[in-house]
Amino acid sequence: MKRRTFLTTGLAASLLPDHQAIPQGNTQAKRAIRIAHITDIHIGPGNRSAQGFAKALQFINSLSDKPELILNGGDCILNALETDKADVKAQWQLWHSVLRQENNIPVMSAIGNHDVFGWFMPNDTLKNDPLYGKKWALDELGMSERYYSFDRQGWHFIVLDSIYQTPNPADPELGLAGRLDDQQMRWLANDLANTTRPTCILSHIPILSACYQFFRFETRAGNQIPASLLTHTDSLELKNLFKQHSQIKLCISGHLHMQEELTYLSIKYLCNGSIAGRRWIGPFQEFEPIVTIIDLYEDGRTQHYWYDYTKAPR
Ligand SMILES: [Zn+2]
Repeated sequence: MKRRTFLTTGLAASLLPDHQAIPQGNTQAKRAIRIAHITDIHIGPGNRSAQGFAKALQFINSLSDKPELILNGGDCILNALETDKADVKAQWQLWHSVLRQENNIPVMSAIGNHDVFGWFMPNDTLKNDPLYGKKWALDELGMSERYYSFDRQGWHFIVLDSIYQTPNPADPELGLAGRLDDQQMRWLANDLANTTRPTCILSHIPILSACYQFFRFETRAGNQIPASLLTHTDSLELKNLFKQHSQIKLCISGHLHMQEELTYLSIKYLCNGSIAGRRWIGPFQEFEPIVTIIDLYEDGRTQHYWYDYTKAPR
């Protein structure tokens, strides 16, 4: 695990040392695209989240060398899993009002577990609601599918849906696992077979992680939270699939609100902290709220920068 936090001491724009962004020995490589990754925003009325999200977007949008694309890793809102409709509506309204006001960069999104509506409501009270489950979040985020891919500036981007329902009436909080459903796994294999472009994969839940071992809390029923909620449980299958596709360079995620950088079989796995920190009251464990800026190069190399945007001047 490696932590790099850049404290802002001057103009935000001067903090991205472009001339240093090309790794040593890579002086011929040309940058293809600069992206920003935001994740785990958890916006909702009644706390500092709207101001905080605004500040994160102001930071990204004020960079003179501005990202062309924002990848949003999900958990956009505070919580929809067991929240009544009016509250969830207010959370999404706040999400849109801050984005409208503070951002003019295109955003591509993934779904987070807290964006899912009604799964943890007792007795399935919302099950027949047309917005139940992922439908509401898909509508709000302008997503026509739960998972998809696209090409931009020579790179291939894959956005996964990590959120898998495993009904457990005894303890609804255990009713969730990080994994792809079978249909999505087949789609992913096919998608990867059809591109040779350097590829970046976005998921809400980390596919591979070490720092999840430091994340523990008890559920309402007194269970220690299981790994199935913290990382992908199908990481072995994904590793075996990824092995066949050397074009995969980078996998980015959030969910843990912790930062880590792992390289395994030549693929870099970044867990890029959170915008919210510990539910907007400070750092989560050792990790301040951050935004991540990533440069993707034509030759498939990548370089990321983690910024504590809360300390940006403004
Ligand atoms: Zn999450």
